[in-house]
Amino acid sequence: MKEFNSFSRRDFVAGASGLLMTGALQGVAGQAAESAPSAEGKPAPKSPLAIHGGEKVVSKGAPSLGRRWGDPERQQLEEMLQQDTLFYWGGPKTQLVKERFREVCPLKYVHTCSSGTAALHIAVAAAGVGPGDEVITSSITDPGTVIGILYQQGVPVFAELGRSTYNLDPEDVKRRITPKTKAIIAVHLAGNPCDLDALRKIADEHKLVLIEDCAQAWGAKSRGRPIGTVGHIACFSLQNSKHITCGDGGVVASSDERFGPELQRFGDKGYDRARGLGLTVFATNYRMSEPQAAVVAAQLTRLEKIAARRAQLGNLLTEKIAHIPGILPHQVHPEDRCVYWFYMFRIEPKAFRCSRGEFYKALAAEGVSCASGYIGKPLYGEPVFQNHGFFAGRWPIKEFGLTTMDYTKHHNPEVEAILATSIRVTIHEGMTEEYILAAAKAIEKVARYYAA
Ligand SMILES: *Cc1c(COP(=O)(O)O)cnc(C)c1O
Repeated sequence: MKEFNSFSRRDFVAGASGLLMTGALQGVAGQAAESAPSAEGKPAPKSPLAIHGGEKVVSKGAPSLGRRWGDPERQQLEEMLQQDTLFYWGGPKTQLVKERFREVCPLKYVHTCSSGTAALHIAVAAAGVGPGDEVITSSITDPGTVIGILYQQGVPVFAELGRSTYNLDPEDVKRRITPKTKAIIAVHLAGNPCDLDALRKIADEHKLVLIEDCAQAWGAKSRGRPIGTVGHIACFSLQNSKHITCGDGGVVASSDERFGPELQRFGDKGYDRARGLGLTVFATNYRMSEPQAAVVAAQLTRLEKIAARRAQLGNLLTEKIAHIPGILPHQVHPEDRCVYWFYMFRIEPKAFRCSRGEFYKALAAEGVSCASGYIGKPLYGEPVFQNHGFFAGRWPIKEFGLTTMDYTKHHNPEVEAILATSIRVTIHEGMTEEYILAAAKAIEKVARYYAA
């Protein structure tokens, strides 16, 4: 192997000094020298990489997303300005949001709130998670998934994820259940539905609450069922980067009579406005006001088109790159609808003579909008977890002996491998099939060039 490498590198330097020169002019001589082309006997690739000065596959680059709001939002905002109140309770726009939300996700109790993080915190509080209770979830996600757990003095327990689904591995979830486990938060990463039937079965068997983090999954479907309807409580984000948005906002919903009626007061300081129970619980103020609701009401009318388009484009990319040796496409169950908040494929390190970093930079140079992985490290690797410093540097439940959790000793090997070998490709509804086909060609070009 060593000999082979040194031979091919010499061969490359001798045969392709012109290429090297081009690379040097672009400041990538190091990369060019590292990326010797094919083995003895195989002809050097005819089409040199754009990062080495060759022609780009996607000459025009990725299409832009364009404006995501306009007349429908303007009309809702105009109407809202005619109202006597901008408060959510009894607000016409909040009411409209609830109605339109139920068309997407038919749940009985729907509560609007200020963010996805708020929705998840409300869900965890309504589920009754208390000091020392454990909640099994994913570590490749937004911090908002776990903030509510920690603020209710619960303990996030991070489980392994599927190799190419990047979603909770039900078998590993099962292994991590203890007498302290109270809930599971299933994150539908990138809009790819988790294995909800398996997770719901585990939750029912162990009397756990299944919370769905649908922040990235607006419009997704699990075996034909709207996302959010299989678990006990569903949480959505309306933050600016999500499929639909009002800048910042969220929705939490449930049809379960144990949790549904609790959602409103856990998002509204503890005030129970429907039943008038008085302050029997405490909560923070996570309310969404009417101006935001007006925008959300309009945005919800755009959702189906956005979700359908992203699903189509992401699936097309999989179809076109699935055959490439060493490439592991984003794995979606054939009967599910993934709405691709992003697309993420993995590279098998042994299949290539380049690092993941070199791969995605070469791909970006071809004109594909892409980046390395999703987040830099799993949540448990972040300093706040490594220091157990959630509350101004301290973690009261650990100090009081209510948990022995030590995140410095926690590792999920597959999670870490996912983050080290994945490449995230931008997918959005402003893209065309033509662009996706070109992006697939670019992935193939880079993969063939660097093939081991
Ligand atoms: C965005 C996001 C959140 C948090 O939502 P915010 O509205 O930003 O608070 C939670 N979970 C996931 C998976 C997200 O992508």
